[in-house]
Amino acid sequence: MRLSIFARLVISYLLLFSMLAGVSLYFIYHLSRFNQTTRSIILNDTSILEYSKQLSDALLSESRYDRKFVILKDEALYENYLLAENEFNQLLKEAVTKTTSEEIILLFYTIGAQHQKFGRLVSEERELIRNARSYPAEQYAAEKKKIADTIIEQLKKIRHSSEKNIFTKIVNLSESGDKAKNVAIMISIFALSTGLIVAFIITRSIKKPLDVMRAKTIKISQGNFRGDLEVTSPPVIAELAAAINTMCHKLQEVDDIKSDFFAHMSHELRTPLASIKEGTSMLLEGLGGGITAKQQRILKIIVQASNRLIDLVNSLLDLSKMEAGMLKYQYAATDLYFLVNKSLEELTPLAEAKHIYIDNKCLALQTVNVDQERMLQVLRNIIGNAIKFTPEDGSIKLETHEKEDFVEIAVHDTGIGIREEDLGRIFHKFQQIVAAKGEKIMGTGLGLATVKQIIHAHGGKVWATSQEGRGSTFYFTLPLP
Ligand code: ADP
Repeated sequence: MRLSIFARLVISYLLLFSMLAGVSLYFIYHLSRFNQTTRSIILNDTSILEYSKQLSDALLSESRYDRKFVILKDEALYENYLLAENEFNQLLKEAVTKTTSEEIILLFYTIGAQHQKFGRLVSEERELIRNARSYPAEQYAAEKKKIADTIIEQLKKIRHSSEKNIFTKIVNLSESGDKAKNVAIMISIFALSTGLIVAFIITRSIKKPLDVMRAKTIKISQGNFRGDLEVTSPPVIAELAAAINTMCHKLQEVDDIKSDFFAHMSHELRTPLASIKEGTSMLLEGLGGGITAKQQRILKIIVQASNRLIDLVNSLLDLSKMEAGMLKYQYAATDLYFLVNKSLEELTPLAEAKHIYIDNKCLALQTVNVDQERMLQVLRNIIGNAIKFTPEDGSIKLETHEKEDFVEIAVHDTGIGIREEDLGRIFHKFQQIVAAKGEKIMGTGLGLATVKQIIHAHGGKVWATSQEGRGSTFYFTLPLP
C-alpha cells in the first residue's frame, strides 16, 4: 500500500475519532431514553396518583353535600353538590388525557359510568324530595354508598396500578442502565483495542522502513557503502532510501579514490626517502670512495634527518589511514601483561640512560582481544612519553586494574607535567606542548593522536591527569571479552 505518512496518520486518527463518536452517540441515545422515561414518570404516573387523590376528595365532598341535602332539603346544598360533581367530572376528563396505560384508562371509564349512575340516583332522589313524595330513602342511601365505595375502590386500584407502573419503569430504567453500561464498556473496549491495533499497524508500517534505514546508516558508518536499500513505501521514506543509495554509490567512489591515494602516497613518499637513507648510509660506509671527517658529519646529519622524516611519514600515513577508517586491525586473544613487559624490555635502556626507575606493578590479567602490534605501539608511545618527559632520577609506575567489563592501565610519571588548559589538546595531532622551561622536546606530535585512534578502535577510552611540575598519569581502558 503506497499511502503517504500523512494519509496513514489521518486514517488512524479518523478511525479513532469515529469510534469515539460512536460511543458518544450511543451514550446520548440512552441518556435521552432515560430522560423520556423519567419525564413520563413525573408527568403521567405521579400526576395520576395526584388525580386519583383529588377525585377521591371530590367524590367525598359530593357524598357529603348529597347527604346533607337529603337531611336538610336545602337547595343551596344541592348546588354545592352539583359544583363538586362538576369538579369530579372535570378532574376525570383531565386524568384520562394524562394517562397512557390502557388498564388505567379503562378503570377511569368504569369510574365515569359509576359516577353517572351516582348522579342519576341523586337527581332522582332530589325530584322525589322536591315533589315531597315518599320513597325508600334508605335503599337510595345504600345504593349510593355502594356506588361511592366502588368508585373509591376503583380509584385505589388506579393508585396501585400507577405505583406499579412507576416501580416497573424504575426497574426497567435500572435494567436498561445496566445493559447500557455493559454495552458501553464493550464498545469502549472494542473501540480502544481496534484503535490501538490500527495505530500499531500504521505506526509499524512507518517505523519498519525507518528501522531498515537506521540499520543501513549504521552499516554506512562502519564502512559498508553498498547501495542496496529497498524501501517502496511510504513514498517519502522510499525517496529517502533512494537518496541514501545514491549517497552510498558516491561514498564508494570517494572511498576508492581514498584507497588509491594512500597506496600511491605511501609508495611515492617512502620509496625516495628510503633511497636517500640507503644512499647516504652507503656513502658513510665508504662505498662511494673515501670521505673526509666533515663530509662524514654532514652525511650523519642527513641519515638522522631522513630517519626522522621516514618516522614522520610513517606516523602520518598510519594516522591518516586510521582517521579514514582504512586501517585493518588484526584482532587476537592477547595477554596484556606480556605486551606490557615486551614494551618495557624495549624501553628500559632509554630509562636507564636517564636513571629513571620503572616500577612495574602490573598484574596478570584476563586475555583481551587486541591487535598486538598496535597495542605495542600504544604502550611504546605512552611509556616512551613518560620517559621522555621525566627528568633524570625520576620514576615511572605502571599499574593495571581489572574492572567489571574492562581493564584499565595507568602509567604514572614524575615528569614535567601538563598544564590543566593543555590536557584537552594533547590528544589532537601536531600538539606539542612547550615544556615548563620553555624548551621543546623532540617528537612528531602524532603519538597521542594515534594512541587515541587505536584505543577507540578497540572500544576503549584514553585520558590523562597531571600536575604541572609534579608529573602526569596516562590511563587507557580496553573492554574485556
Ligand atoms: P610527541 O611526539 O611530541 O611526544 P605526543 O602526541 O606523544 O607527541 O604528545 C603530545 C604532547 O603531549 C607532547 O608534546 C607533550 O607536550 C605532551 N605529553 C605527552 N606525554 C606527556 C608526559 N608523560 N608528560 C608531560 N607531557 C606529555
